Amino acid sequence: MRQQLNRTGHGRCEGCGGGHPANQLQVDHIRPLVDGGTDTDPNVRPLCRACHTQATSAQARARAVQRRAGRRSA
Ligand SMILES: [Zn+2]
Repeated sequence: MRQQLNRTGHGRCEGCGGGHPANQLQVDHIRPLVDGGTDTDPNVRPLCRACHTQATSAQARARAVQRRAGRRSA
């Protein structure tokens, strides 16, 4: 995780574009692991805490919508 952050992040949040100390950036999975995403590039990106929280809740909402859609079509 830390190695990926250092390699891809350069201390910049890919959400808001702001510079942050590396220890305040978190690894976000663009495609969540539970949805079959990988733990490697290009599926991981550095996000600051605020952006990560936002992205995670957006992903949770999207998953909830997908689950409802899946039940409808099944
Ligand atoms: Zn950010």
